[in-house]
Amino acid sequence: MDDLSKFCCQETACPDFGKRGVGNLSVCNRYGPNNSRRMLRCSSCKARFSERKGTPFFRSQLPDETVVSVLNHINEGCGIRKTGRLVGVNKDTVTRYSLLAGKHAKELHDDLVSFSP
Ligand SMILES: [Zn+2]
Repeated sequence: MDDLSKFCCQETACPDFGKRGVGNLSVCNRYGPNNSRRMLRCSSCKARFSERKGTPFFRSQLPDETVVSVLNHINEGCGIRKTGRLVGVNKDTVTRYSLLAGKHAKELHDDLVSFSP
């Protein structure tokens, strides 16, 4: 049984949009390299979406390890051009993934960090 407690419905019109651990998600299909990626289905709104949707990995053309490496370099304070040279990708690629990761991190932060008392 897949643990889907960290996932939520990605459909903004869904009544359970953004709610984790509600039990509305199930794995309806697998795809990608060695069928390693899951397609999730929401029982509340019937939407189907990739488990990677909303993350920097969604529709990524780079191998996952390269994306992680790019973001690790940025996280350690390495500049855009420097990161591009070290990882072997274009500087615009570094910028694109940094923006995607920043957006995802902000959304996650806003969702997980509650108001200070
Ligand atoms: Zn839904």
